[in-house]
Amino acid sequence: MRQVKLGLWGAEVSEVCFGSLAISPLQGRVTEAEGVSVLRYALDQGINWIDTAEIYDNYGQIAQAIKDHPDVRVVSKSYSVSAEDMSFSLEKARTALNRDTLDFFLLHEQESALTLKGHEKAWEELLRAKEKGIVRWIGISTHAVAGVRAGALLPGLDVIHPILNYQGLGIIDGTLSDMQDAISFASDLGIGIYAMKVFGGGHLANNPEKALAFTRSVPGVQGIALGMSSREEVDYNLLLMAGKEVPQALQEKVKHRKRKLYIADWCQGCGLCLEACPQGALSIEDTVSVVNAEACVLCGYCGRVCPHFCLKIV
Ligand code: SF4
Ligand code: SF4
Repeated sequence: MRQVKLGLWGAEVSEVCFGSLAISPLQGRVTEAEGVSVLRYALDQGINWIDTAEIYDNYGQIAQAIKDHPDVRVVSKSYSVSAEDMSFSLEKARTALNRDTLDFFLLHEQESALTLKGHEKAWEELLRAKEKGIVRWIGISTHAVAGVRAGALLPGLDVIHPILNYQGLGIIDGTLSDMQDAISFASDLGIGIYAMKVFGGGHLANNPEKALAFTRSVPGVQGIALGMSSREEVDYNLLLMAGKEVPQALQEKVKHRKRKLYIADWCQGCGLCLEACPQGALSIEDTVSVVNAEACVLCGYCGRVCPHFCLKIV
């Protein structure tokens, strides 16, 4: 598999990063054991890094899969605000992943310079952790153009994980062209870029060739995180990435079922899910939560905050 270098001073990794949200309990597509099996299979095919986050709640799954793969790199992220929060997040990841040194750790979903200012203490702790050798590369993930631009100017930042797809789906504060410009700006500063949501949370899955080709063609993008929850999806994506023909039988197997966010009718209208949605896709209407399916990227982040377990991706 093609190897890429993330930015000027980043790691050498496979072009495809395994997006583990797809096998995590947040998305509920597979059991924990099935997820481990898919992940192991992907590693055997040459994918050598994994994207996760503290909120995906799947460190245990990853730890099992990487047990015999000490060279596989793991990216995690947290929403930490204070230095103490970040220190806790780093220790949690080191313990649960069974790794003394973390490869990558990011501040999760930073929207702008203002958001980063609010997380300043956590960032400083991340810088200290990097100095001490607790983590090798640090950065941010973001759904925002302003997040990419602000992150690029953070001293010590190595990598940015932005949302990017050919329709600009999920970008919360600008156009696709704005995002491309911001990525180019960050890349010119030597920062490594690996894109997320290249299939727009499933909305662009009917034309995967176009989705992959577009993201790979954006100057400054070195890697792509792809969420996969079956061996067939791994095979399918890797054939596409290699520019090879996908056999008809395999195409049939991975035909993307249209997924959606299901909101149970016992919703209490408390509004907690609205605050958790990075896309602003939820609103309260007639005292219950409703989703704008066009805006929803099926990340599953809302489900974890609902006290009544109303939200599920089906
Ligand atoms: S509604 Fe839920 S699943 Fe959809 S984008 Fe928002 S947080 Fe993610
Ligand atoms: S968090 Fe749950 S109960 Fe509250 S509004 Fe959202 S879906 Fe309804």
